[in-house]
Amino acid sequence: LAESYEHHVAVLPSPGMGHIVPLLELSKRLVVHHGFHVSFLNITTEASPAQTDLLHSPSLPLGLHVIDLPPADVSSLVNEEMLVLHRLGVIVEESLRCLKSVLIQLGKPKALIIDLFCTQGFDVGKQLSIPVYTFFTPSAAFCAFTLYHPTMDREVEGEFIDLLEPVQVPGCFPVRTEDLLDQIRNRKNDEYRYYFGHVRRLCEAAGIFLNSWEDLEPVPLKAIRENPFYQKISTPPVYPMGPLIKEHEPLTKIDVECLAWLDEQPPDSVLFIVLGSGGTLSSQQLTEFAWGLELSQQRFIWVVRKPTDATASGTFFNVGGDVNDPRAYLPEGFVERTRGVGLVVPSWASQVAFLRHPSTGGFLSHCGWNSSLESITYGVPMIAWPLYAEQRMNATMLAEEVGVAVKPVKGNGKTVIDREEIERVVRLLMEGEQGKAMRSKAKKLQESATNALNTGGSSCDPLSRVAKQWKDLPAPM
Ligand code: UDP
Repeated sequence: LAESYEHHVAVLPSPGMGHIVPLLELSKRLVVHHGFHVSFLNITTEASPAQTDLLHSPSLPLGLHVIDLPPADVSSLVNEEMLVLHRLGVIVEESLRCLKSVLIQLGKPKALIIDLFCTQGFDVGKQLSIPVYTFFTPSAAFCAFTLYHPTMDREVEGEFIDLLEPVQVPGCFPVRTEDLLDQIRNRKNDEYRYYFGHVRRLCEAAGIFLNSWEDLEPVPLKAIRENPFYQKISTPPVYPMGPLIKEHEPLTKIDVECLAWLDEQPPDSVLFIVLGSGGTLSSQQLTEFAWGLELSQQRFIWVVRKPTDATASGTFFNVGGDVNDPRAYLPEGFVERTRGVGLVVPSWASQVAFLRHPSTGGFLSHCGWNSSLESITYGVPMIAWPLYAEQRMNATMLAEEVGVAVKPVKGNGKTVIDREEIERVVRLLMEGEQGKAMRSKAKKLQESATNALNTGGSSCDPLSRVAKQWKDLPAPM
């Protein structure tokens, strides 16, 4: 233990599965492959069964200690009306008031690895003379966008979404204004203030870890390294380390039953449908979706959630906790009519176990970055159904640049994607020539992901290099 404490680092994710999952995977690698002791500092939020299972799984390696930070009392500071990131921002800010004393108590780690939205870590790192690295959980393309964001904020007058041209991120593919993330669509609200307050500090990191790899995102990675713009703004070194995705996760009884059903289906024949940890559809969209799926006559497993009309991230604060009877909100008779063709699972499924299964041939996803990486890592092409955060940018990239996804089109003047369009894209992916081409591209990338992570691979070397640098640091005083 004394030896491993000599190589002690702390990891600080912000709340949310999309952040906890990759930072936990990085922590496991640091423990298992590089002999570090990792303190994983968990910001406690409202109860979330899936998150609790993940963080308290008996399969976590010895040497990885999940430490729940004392819950902050935010009752007078947050309310249900606040936008997700604003609410999270307040929780993080209050919870991190104890960060300095926690790190001192733990015996000052050699490095602190923070999530993009925990930049309070930079101040504490400075006070304690600990180098602070950022694990940037979205794509490398979005990292380039984020590095360019402060320049845009300075130079653009008015709203970004009113720009007449796509945003020209130096060295990268242009970003259409309709794909811009929700958090920057209105620069006057508190959510933008919180969001920008964090992302503008990215260059303070000693290094940026990326959950991507050279073959998946060659253009933005090259741009960040070589384009003079990024040098001018003093971009720290970037380390692509991906894909860092969930490997093993606990299965529920329902997971086991569904996987047994999958065993009976032909290879690549089942469409798996999940909209991230927080994604929900409006009632009208849910109905159209169910009809479109039924009309397509393709096999499916659908993780369904109660519809929410007010927000597209209706279960963000109650991940996996919303267990309900889907018959109450699916079209009447849907479950009976699709019996034998598809399965409906309320709320949550162990996604990776399904994507890894050979009968899964397509994934309808909200295109959160972790879900996108998981799909590609298992060679599964996608229907892109972006809902919130930077997902529209991911969807466009996966469809137009990487070639592993198809995007359904919303008809002119329509508020929802209609059933005919849903039927079309499901058929296209599961039985069309275009679907085959996307599957073959996904399988090629699957191979390159494995190579990247193997010893000597492009994502293995960067972590080894940083790990060595940390080990060579003198023990903190
Ligand atoms: N996830 C899961 N089962 C579900 C929904 C989500 O296992 O029913 C996992 C998924 O595998 C991924 C994470 O939750 O690892 C979601 O992260 P992502 O970045 O895709 O989206 P977010 O939830 O942050 O929007």
